[in-house]
Amino acid sequence: MVLLPRSSENPRPFTHTVPGVLTSVRDGRRVVAVDIETWSAVCKRIYSCDPSSAPVMMDEIGRQLGAEMAARQKKQTPFAEDAMAGMGPSLSEMGWGEFVIDHDVMKAFRLGRSDMISIKIKMCAFYRVNLGGQSPLCHFVVGLMKGALSELQGERLRAWEELCTSKGDDFCEVVVARR
Ligand SMILES: [Zn+2]
Repeated sequence: MVLLPRSSENPRPFTHTVPGVLTSVRDGRRVVAVDIETWSAVCKRIYSCDPSSAPVMMDEIGRQLGAEMAARQKKQTPFAEDAMAGMGPSLSEMGWGEFVIDHDVMKAFRLGRSDMISIKIKMCAFYRVNLGGQSPLCHFVVGLMKGALSELQGERLRAWEELCTSKGDDFCEVVVARR
């Protein structure tokens, strides 16, 4: 089961098989869409139940989703930068925020001319879930970018959040780098 935030822009066909729950079958697997309030409640619960483990858990959930999306995208587009550019609109459509990925920066990273890439996320979904705080909080998005780029590059990359709307920045910025 994959949890995705339901957004009004999401055009995928969903059916109600359980009253009140939107479900769809993709690649033979059942996908359950949850609205942003439900997602928010789930996130808050995870963070409040175990504050020390929550960042790692959210990072790992994001990493798996990012790797899966990238593997799917890689089949359609031959180059990593094109695949990554193709993922931006999909992530926005799902409701995670507006991912700004520079094609040339991505290409330089793929070719090894740079060891770092930064991704700007406007209207990050985690700002809307309103977790609050003074430090970067988008562990899920950090995992998402780490998983996607690691899969596209075929190497283990690390990632962290430099700027975050939850601590007052205008947008979130995730940096992905080679070890
Ligand atoms: Zn953030």
